[in-house]
Amino acid sequence: MARIVNDWRIDLMRAHPRLFEIVAEEPKHSFGYPLCEAGWRDVMERLCVRIEDTLQDGETFQFVRIKQKFGVARFDWDGEVSDQTRLRILEAINLAVARSACSCEICGAEGRLYSNRGWLATRCAEHAAAGDPVPVRPGYENVRFLRRTPGTANMYYARYDRATDTLTEVSPRPPHGEE
Ligand SMILES: [Zn+2]
Repeated sequence: MARIVNDWRIDLMRAHPRLFEIVAEEPKHSFGYPLCEAGWRDVMERLCVRIEDTLQDGETFQFVRIKQKFGVARFDWDGEVSDQTRLRILEAINLAVARSACSCEICGAEGRLYSNRGWLATRCAEHAAAGDPVPVRPGYENVRFLRRTPGTANMYYARYDRATDTLTEVSPRPPHGEE
């Protein structure tokens, strides 16, 4: 008989049953099983609570993929919700992505983007291993380029504040922007 190993990813999914469809026999094979390290558990807990608070009666939501890509968290979901709820889910995901981009994926401490021979990862200094910090253009520290409305090309720049877990639009773009 297979030994059951403690897995924070399965615990997370079970703690938020409205957001995850769990494969009973093999929870690791669930679509929403997070493919990232434990340092981002806090990022995901915050996101799950925000989405649960947003969902209205009769609306459905299911994570279909949670993974690390280019050093930040990425969330794909499916469901039937109102436009207003869809917008609030987008805002919650924007916050989560921004938080992942400044939180060490290994330990959860404040971190930044490192490149190890082109492999990107968000890490604290202790867990950066052999990676080199990816330079940030002056004025773009903790600034993300985010989608404003679901399913459109309407984008904006916002600065993430880790202490307050908030995004503030930078208008029209950060100082010294060259694009
Ligand atoms: Zn770390």
